[in-house]
Amino acid sequence: MYDCVIVGAGPAGSTAAYHLSKAGRQVLLLDAAKLPRYKPCGGGVSPQVAQWFDFDFAPAISVKVRKVRYTFNMADPIEAELPTEKALWMVRRDEFDYFIVQQAQKQGATLWDGTKAQSIENHGDFWQVNTTQGPAQGRFLIAADGARGSMAKWLGFTQRRYKLAAALEAEPRLEVPSEPVVHFDLGLMQQGYLWNFPKADGYSIGGGVFRSGTQRKQDLRTPVGDYAAAFGVDASTVQHFGHPIFIWDGPQDLHTHRAVLAGEAACVVDPFTAEGIRPSIFSGLKAADAIAQALKEDDHQLLLSKGHQSLADYSQIMNTEWGEEMRWARRLARLVYSAPALAYRAGVKRPSSTLTMVKVFCGEVSYGEVAHRAIQRLSKGLLS
Ligand SMILES: Cc1cc2nc3c(=O)[nH]c(=O)nc-3n(C[C@H](O)[C@H](O)[C@H](O)COP(=O)(O)OP(=O)(O)OC[C@H]3O[C@@H](n4cnc5c(N)ncnc54)[C@H](O)[C@@H]3O)c2cc1C
Repeated sequence: MYDCVIVGAGPAGSTAAYHLSKAGRQVLLLDAAKLPRYKPCGGGVSPQVAQWFDFDFAPAISVKVRKVRYTFNMADPIEAELPTEKALWMVRRDEFDYFIVQQAQKQGATLWDGTKAQSIENHGDFWQVNTTQGPAQGRFLIAADGARGSMAKWLGFTQRRYKLAAALEAEPRLEVPSEPVVHFDLGLMQQGYLWNFPKADGYSIGGGVFRSGTQRKQDLRTPVGDYAAAFGVDASTVQHFGHPIFIWDGPQDLHTHRAVLAGEAACVVDPFTAEGIRPSIFSGLKAADAIAQALKEDDHQLLLSKGHQSLADYSQIMNTEWGEEMRWARRLARLVYSAPALAYRAGVKRPSSTLTMVKVFCGEVSYGEVAHRAIQRLSKGLLS
């Protein structure tokens, strides 16, 4: 009997495993894939995540990038430079995710990789997860199985609030200049953007349609191919991977009896930037705190008839501390993706814009503060 079984060893699950194990709890972390595993992802990570751990991420960062270059429809380029301490982390997800898993193992977490959860059973004061390696039992359960997982459905979250987005990614191995640059293009991909994120030994080139509400099937392959060609990459020779994204779409309960949803299973992705790693890590951290507290409630038999208060608090924390920010992100996304040319001219090209967005990405400035000003400016532009 584990204190907690965590399904999914991405950033959310591995973070929760790390923190719960560090708190002295018995944790089983399981993942369907044999680790390290590939995850379609740009691998752009906010340096803010470092503050939530007490180990050094250096071995898991492929390169840190200070130069950001934007284009609109592949033209009208603009470049910005970031201060050293705000350099963006570019990671390969197989290495990054597995690195956190290994830190959790060092704290005592048990890993079953190559082990798929196939169903769950509620036994009152514990959950049983039936896996391809046999059953596993835990007093609590964290569903961190990402956008493709089934855990939320099995736990009874059949009406989760999210907007479905999609992205396509390829990782060509090419020589990277000594001073790497992060590239974005707005305009060529409707209702989203294209990216080229450098790594030590190549790139992540991809594009996504992120705007909520526009679910007309859009061709991702052509713009990604055209964009890749601009960097000398023949897209037909590189394997592409598509993946759904669960964009945050409003507050909701993320807890149930002795279980919580974390990461993309909790639909945490930013509607404007499609950033999912930082919020997944944040939710993993908060889920671990909540379950550590709930285990104490159990130990001291403080359980009230309403259920574990700390699990309800977890939903509340995610809906306020992350959700409030995402409310603004959604408004910004609506404006920017419906008038990208204006947004590029009046927003992206402003000299201060990149640093401001990076401060949001680093959690130093609230989305609300920035979005409010940006929305006013862009709305004025639209009206005039
Ligand atoms: C193309 C693309 C590009 C992106 N680029 C960025 C970016 O640059 N920066 C950023 O911040 N975010 C980015 N995102 C979003 C980010 O990748 C996700 O939000 C993030 O990976 C979510 O983390 P997670 O831990 O919730 O789930 P995941 O990382 O998806 O991990 C879930 C894990 O659960 C496992 N699993 C699933 N089902 C089961 C099962 N039944 N049993 C056991 N294990 C199971 C899977 O094998 C997987 O390892 C991108 C997304 C896409 C699709």
